Amino acid sequence: MSDKPIVSVLGTGIMGAAMARNLCRAGLEVRVWNRTRDKAEPLAADGARITDTPAEAVEGADVVLTMLYDGNTVLEVMREAAPALRRGAAWVQSTTAGSELIGDLAAFADEHGLLFYDAPVLGTKEPAEAGKLTVLAAGPEEGRAAVTPVFDAVGAKTLWTGEHGAEGSASRLKLVANSWVLAVTAATGETLALAKGLDVDPRKFFELIGGGPLDMGYLRAKSQVLLEGKLTPASFAVTTAEKDARLIVAAGKGNGVRLDVAEATAERFARAAAQGHGQEDMAAAYFASFEEKSGS
Ligand code: NAP
Repeated sequence: MSDKPIVSVLGTGIMGAAMARNLCRAGLEVRVWNRTRDKAEPLAADGARITDTPAEAVEGADVVLTMLYDGNTVLEVMREAAPALRRGAAWVQSTTAGSELIGDLAAFADEHGLLFYDAPVLGTKEPAEAGKLTVLAAGPEEGRAAVTPVFDAVGAKTLWTGEHGAEGSASRLKLVANSWVLAVTAATGETLALAKGLDVDPRKFFELIGGGPLDMGYLRAKSQVLLEGKLTPASFAVTTAEKDARLIVAAGKGNGVRLDVAEATAERFARAAAQGHGQEDMAAAYFASFEEKSGS
């Protein structure tokens, strides 16, 4: 391997496309595959090679980066890639896959001689586009030379949570962080919905809490998306947020922790999706407070 690894990105959705683009900008040789090829094609202008199958994408790769919907999708796509995977290559698994499937993912890596990096990311579309994600990473010392240029290209910071045998520690931290993100998003939607129902001008609410300990950047950001009608294109879609809320509930349940807020949050996302807001930004959970699809 040269000092610049060949990187394959499987999944070029909101996050994967932005990450692939930054890998290209960092001068790495990048191959991409996406189920819907149209979404991968713009990356050709950045220098990425667009491929037709996961196997074609990973052939000869030093690092395979997966950024797909969930853990089952990752396993499905990696099985398709399997015949072309190179033993000794590093696998950076950045999809938010939760903690339950981590054993299956690590077993797949072992079976195929891959160095497995559990590497979910914190940050949404805009930090992904700016190469300013935070990468949470767990994986072996061996192989870090290959994955470091990848983490540096997509992120502003890498937070190592463990080495070989500690796979899952990064995903567990990611779930804890996302439980906070989703709780704030759901509470933002409910607060603004209540304001609407009670005929309270949301600007008065912001004036009231402005600059004090109840104010926060994320509340402001999600409120702005909703109040200014900027729900599409999504930074983080309602359906993906519902998937994450369910991963959080399952992880709690599996470890003896009851999570009422996360459970209710998952239901709010599900209801908003059923009302037709599934592909909008998760701030659209707001609509779950009303019977019908309504304006903000
Ligand atoms: P997205 O835009 O919906 O991308 C999902 C990707 O998964 C697309 O490439 C999609 O392909 C692919 N996919 C879905 N089902 C598939 C299947 N059955 N077979 C093959 N490919 C399939 O979502 P995203 O926001 O980029 O999220 C990707 C991952 O990052 C998720 O695990 C999410 O939880 C996590 N994440 C998201 C954010 C965020 O703010 N958006 C932040 C941190 C982490 P198609 O294009 O063909 O549908």
